[in-house]
Amino acid sequence: MTTTPEQNQYDLELKGITKHFGSFMAVGNLSLSVERGQFVCLLGPSGCGKTTTLRIIAGLEEPEKGEVWIDGRRVDDDPPWVRDFAMMFQDFALFPHMTIRKQVAFGLEMLKRPKEEIRRRVDETLATFEIGALADRKPDTLSGGQQQRVALARALITQPRLLLLDEPIGSLDFSLREAVMLELKDVQRRLGISFIWVTHDQNEAFSLGDLVVVMNHARIEQVGPPEAIAERPRTRFVAEFIQGNNVFEGTVESVENGNARIGTPSGSFDVPVEDAPLLAPGAVVTFSVRADILSTRPQAEHVNRLEATCNAVEYLGAIRRYDLQLEDGRSLKYEQFRSAAARIKEGERVSIGWRVEDGVLHASPSAPSDEHRA
Ligand code: ATP
Repeated sequence: MTTTPEQNQYDLELKGITKHFGSFMAVGNLSLSVERGQFVCLLGPSGCGKTTTLRIIAGLEEPEKGEVWIDGRRVDDDPPWVRDFAMMFQDFALFPHMTIRKQVAFGLEMLKRPKEEIRRRVDETLATFEIGALADRKPDTLSGGQQQRVALARALITQPRLLLLDEPIGSLDFSLREAVMLELKDVQRRLGISFIWVTHDQNEAFSLGDLVVVMNHARIEQVGPPEAIAERPRTRFVAEFIQGNNVFEGTVESVENGNARIGTPSGSFDVPVEDAPLLAPGAVVTFSVRADILSTRPQAEHVNRLEATCNAVEYLGAIRRYDLQLEDGRSLKYEQFRSAAARIKEGERVSIGWRVEDGVLHASPSAPSDEHRA
């Protein structure tokens, strides 16, 4: 069934997508809904299936199972050129011998639009992206920022609903990346189309994404806004993949008043069980607590306590990260803002505490990973 654009609230829907290469599963029963005008980042380690997912959306790979819907239309049987998307590649992949005007016209020429329409729309697009003055130049005479605008203009001239971007700023200089990210975010907001951006860089995903999709081994581990991914990691994998979490593994000793007491080699700690009401004593679980939420001056509310010795201090610009060694030899990360007065020196003993509600219990690894929560 096809919905009209007015009825449809999704730019993209993936329903139960599975893709194997031989016996290797690259994408496993993956479902994802992207509402209108969302900036979505597919985040995960190398080989987890991000690019394959992007290529399936584009129609460059065919899944064995599942459905792809773009703008309310099922497109599984459509070739790439009639699907309503554009693609931006790593380092922009501009055609080296073509003038900027020709590059920008390329998409419309492929669609065989009338010459007059192409001329008019190219002029408009060159103006929109403020690259009119570059129209007769070749890409190798442009700066990185100018090349990026040309690539965007070339991708977006056909006015697609979706822009697919595969590590588009992967090898740009650090100094250029910030500016490029801000500009891309601004373009996405202005045009109101959805961007699906593949990256393995969590900082990129967190600063750009309205929605971050964390993938691992062909599956989605968690979908949500950056804050939810950072502050409430759903699984052990997400907690370990996202920087700044301390992960504990232990056995449930008791469950009372909505909290579980979990015995770990470093001590016993209380963690809320709101999302795991059926948890029983004896279950092996993991939970995490963020390094920036720990207190080195524990008060009565910080019921979870540890003693530690400072092993090393790392200065990361806005924050200091401390590697603390616990009495059982394990290490614990603690982060504080650069401006914080109470600094810890190497070799110093510290008391650490956190509130019950600061701990996040993880779903068990066997929980169905495609039943993600936003
Ligand atoms: P990266 O960040 O390294 O690009 P990714 O998350 O985008 O990784 P994919 O490129 O989607 O990962 O690949 C997922 C898995 O599928 C990898 O193990 C890869 O080797 C495998 N794969 C991808 N394409 C093919 C292919 N055409 N033939 C065989 N295996 C493939």
